[in-house]
Amino acid sequence: MPSSCEETRELLSDYVEGELEERPRRRVAPHLRMCRRCRTVWHALIATINGLGALAAPEASLQPAFADSVVARIRAEAGDRSPP
Ligand SMILES: [Zn+2]
Repeated sequence: MPSSCEETRELLSDYVEGELEERPRRRVAPHLRMCRRCRTVWHALIATINGLGALAAPEASLQPAFADSVVARIRAEAGDRSPP
C-alpha cells in the first residue's frame, strides 16, 4: 500500500484540481486504483468540481455557437419555405 486512505483523502482535492506536485500525485494515483472507497470519494469530487467549473467558466460554454447554428438552421428552413 503506497499510502493510507487518510493521506490520500487529504491530497485528493488538490489531486482533482491538478494542483498536486508530481511526487504526492504518484502516491495518490495507485491508491485510487486499488481502493474502491477512495475512488468513490474521488469521483464525487470530480463531479462537484465539474459542476462548479461549468458555472464559473462561461467562456467554456458552447451556447453562443449553438445559438448561431440554430439561427442558421431557422434561416435555411425559412428560405426553403419562402415562395420564389
Ligand atoms: Zn483508500
